[in-house]
Amino acid sequence: MPEIAEMYQQMGIRPSVLGLGRRTEEGLAERFRKIDETAEFNQLKVISAMQKNRVNEACFHYASGYGYDDLGRDTLEKVYADVFHTEAALVRPQITCGTHALALALSANLRPGDELVSVAGKPYDTLEEVIGIRPSRGSLAEYGVTYSQVDLLADGSFDFEKIKNAVTDKTKLVTIQRSKGYQTRPSFSVAQIGAVIEFVKKIKPEVICMVDNCYGEFVETMEPSDVGADLAVGSLIKNPGGGLAPIGGYIAGREELIENCGYRLTSPGLGREVGASLGVMQSFYQGLFLAPVVTASALKGAIFAANIYEALGYSVVPDSSESRHDIIQAVEFGRPEAVIAFCQGIQAAAPVDSYVTPEPWAMPGYDSDVIMAAGAFVQGSSIELSADGPIKPPYAVYFQGGLTWPHAKLGILMSLEYLVRAGIVTV
Ligand SMILES: *Cc1c(COP(=O)(O)O)cnc(C)c1O
Repeated sequence: MPEIAEMYQQMGIRPSVLGLGRRTEEGLAERFRKIDETAEFNQLKVISAMQKNRVNEACFHYASGYGYDDLGRDTLEKVYADVFHTEAALVRPQITCGTHALALALSANLRPGDELVSVAGKPYDTLEEVIGIRPSRGSLAEYGVTYSQVDLLADGSFDFEKIKNAVTDKTKLVTIQRSKGYQTRPSFSVAQIGAVIEFVKKIKPEVICMVDNCYGEFVETMEPSDVGADLAVGSLIKNPGGGLAPIGGYIAGREELIENCGYRLTSPGLGREVGASLGVMQSFYQGLFLAPVVTASALKGAIFAANIYEALGYSVVPDSSESRHDIIQAVEFGRPEAVIAFCQGIQAAAPVDSYVTPEPWAMPGYDSDVIMAAGAFVQGSSIELSADGPIKPPYAVYFQGGLTWPHAKLGILMSLEYLVRAGIVTV
């Protein structure tokens, strides 16, 4: 199709870059077909949950005030519970982000004297302050909840031997992070998560198993709650919001545990009965409806990038052929100019703020300058195509998202175009 090639050229992609993209994409046909099949399965799962719960136009109405009997909110929570095959779910705009959802699930279900155990090594950065690994005001540690951690083995797998010793009388809740986040370990498959949950439950059946499901939703046909997780937790400005949810988080799991989350989110006595949905319901429903296909687009982008940059000689995590359990892709460039060019290319391909040139900057919470590329409709949304790179060795960029495959593809081609223009890569 010469017209498409012309469009790419008009947008600044040179023919040799497009050519490499074409050849790479052709080699990925079979993997993309499998991703589409997963999306098809998950699309059916979401639609059946919506049909079963008789989602209707009244669910989209604006609700304000206390929000008693908010039909849209209550129905959506049933839809989520059916998608995740759990007894209940809490899905609210009052849950401000993924960290908040996780903090809520933990603080709602732990009491002074209880111990929290992470069996997947160090948790996501922001959780360190929630737990109190880094001293922080309001942390679980301040409320007398202790913490222990079982590091992963050198190959990134669970250390079952050590887990056996870590789960004790005091252990109330075990947390498992599905995605590697911004670490270099592999992400866990749902089957691996199921195996560790089974192991933990054999030691202590009553222990609550919680999975940080961020970035993992709809990547596979099963979710952690299908393999024994008592709680699955995530953010709506990642996969399950489908790019449309402007805020929010979810917790899906056992009724009693979700009820505790309700009391913690609002107030003892009030629980899930209050919390008006404030007009965001249509975007929550429609975003969930789109999420399987949006997640598939982001996955295709991650695999496409892994294949392009690995072929150019860079180290990529996950590598070009590994199976995928989340949507994050890391590329190690080994030099700062490459990180900068990559991020500037991603930015230049964005639908929003494409004319902005991102530069490395000192950011709170980071020990080096960081460059961030994000031309998103929803601020900070990482299901939209976005990238960031700390300016320090090994000079890696982490990128994720892409609401549509053509946009993810354009972004990655543009990143390569910028690397070629900077004289870092020759194609
Ligand atoms: C993004 C993420 C979080 C935190 O979510 P925020 O919405 O950024 O607060 C927690 N855990 C993992 C694995 C994540 O990817």
